Amino acid sequence: MSLKIIPIISILILSVACEPFRFDNYTLYKVLPKNLEEIKILEDLQNSGADFDFWDDPVPTADYINVLSKPELKNDLEGFLAAQGIDFVITLPNIQELIDNEKKKRYTRSNVKTMEWDDYYTLEDIYDWLDDLAKAFPDVVSTIVGGTSHEGRIIKGVKISHGPGRRAVFIESGIHAREWIAPATANYVINQLLYSNDEETKAAAREFDWYIFPVTNPDGYIWTHVGYRLWRKNRRKFGDEYGVDLNRNWNDNWLVIGASSNPASNTYAGPGPFSEMETRTLATYIANMADKIDLYLSFHSSGQILLLPFGNTTEPLANYYDAMKIGRRALGALAFRHGTQYTIGNIAEAIYFAAGTSVDWVKERLKIPLSYCYELRDRGVYGHLLPPDQILPTGEETMDSIIEMVWQAKRFGYMKASNATALKISMKIGRRALGALAFRHGTQYTIGNIAEAIYFAAGTSVDWVKERLKIPLSYCYELRDRGVYGHLLPPDQILPTGEETMDSIIEMVWQAKRFGYMKASNATALKISVLLYLAAIVKLFF
Ligand SMILES: [Zn+2]
Repeated sequence: MSLKIIPIISILILSVACEPFRFDNYTLYKVLPKNLEEIKILEDLQNSGADFDFWDDPVPTADYINVLSKPELKNDLEGFLAAQGIDFVITLPNIQELIDNEKKKRYTRSNVKTMEWDDYYTLEDIYDWLDDLAKAFPDVVSTIVGGTSHEGRIIKGVKISHGPGRRAVFIESGIHAREWIAPATANYVINQLLYSNDEETKAAAREFDWYIFPVTNPDGYIWTHVGYRLWRKNRRKFGDEYGVDLNRNWNDNWLVIGASSNPASNTYAGPGPFSEMETRTLATYIANMADKIDLYLSFHSSGQILLLPFGNTTEPLANYYDAMKIGRRALGALAFRHGTQYTIGNIAEAIYFAAGTSVDWVKERLKIPLSYCYELRDRGVYGHLLPPDQILPTGEETMDSIIEMVWQAKRFGYMKASNATALKISMKIGRRALGALAFRHGTQYTIGNIAEAIYFAAGTSVDWVKERLKIPLSYCYELRDRGVYGHLLPPDQILPTGEETMDSIIEMVWQAKRFGYMKASNATALKISVLLYLAAIVKLFF
């Protein structure tokens, strides 16, 4: 055998392996149960092991259930439903036609405007775009790595931040690979936070930190592009089967309900809680910054439902009524633009019992106060194959609801940067400035907030500029000396006082910049960032 043949053979094998599975004449049904008996019949069908892909679970609240059938089983399904008297309609006779209409565009590297909202993109394109945004907005956007996949890919996201000390919104998207509208919507949110001209959106971008991961199941997402469009799980191999449902693998009531212990199932919960690289690494990332997060959002499709924890019980969570009110108002904003109607409820009552989900885990284990799962468009027609012309309206209405949500959350007392955090940062900057001050002549200062270091004094300038004008850093220097001359400091101390004070101010501005202040590109650029109030008043205690 000639050596030349080997590469040709391996290329052939590779190209065969990479040919995506075709869904010719696979048909999507919308089954319409009229009562609980019919729902029970459908539940039995789902559990019978028959080879139908249930896109919705037959739960008592379901008013429709999307079921996908392969061509050779369509007669069986239709005959069965007719015999049981269960109504159904065919919404998509041949889903391959829908699939053929996806994926026409590519993102052009370094041209951020070529990420558009009328088509779905590959993982590579999305990751390139995130990198390019970080280059385009170096002071505001940074790429972040939330974890690693089973096949060794990173879970890449962006942090959008206009300065330190802000409360955070965390968006986790694309954990179910085939739900392509989820990453597309997360991308749209990122884009709006950077480019929107809407004042409320711009204010929300500035006032909060945003951590957004469009694709938290990168292996699965790639597989939906190159292998099997309707893949849901990750790509870890278990015997002859592949994949764990990453939204049943979180360590909160794991496998208690609404999940399967069978690796062949689409809701396989994995061999143990956090058995999967994706969930384990991402959960660690979230846990390490949990004290910053007030609002956690998870994007899925479909059904137009906003879900609250918990998935294993209909018992209300601690701040259930706050969360419901905030959610309802967000959905009012969502409906306003295109008339899209959502329902709201906790997972167990609104959709299905499902344990081991991310929104339950962050709420229960990390005590993140507000946690929602969006089941995005649509309701029963296209499901996971939402046509690309619905990406833009879905993005728009979802963004409207998120902006309403953050401001409503703030109204209800969430999303407020704690004064303690801001004080801690300004103390750090101040201490480093005093290190520089002491260096030249050995002059020792003390530092503290006015009330604790000197005296209680109201109506001062430093308090006013901080409280009323929101100038982030505000200090008052009590200059030399300590108890000898006071207001009658001899002229020969003017120069050393000037020198050491100048040293400390220079240190202060650079430290402030290190901590994220004093950046010209920030929205606060026109504000005076540091007020240096050089008051020659004698301290009350010597
Ligand atoms: Zn999902």
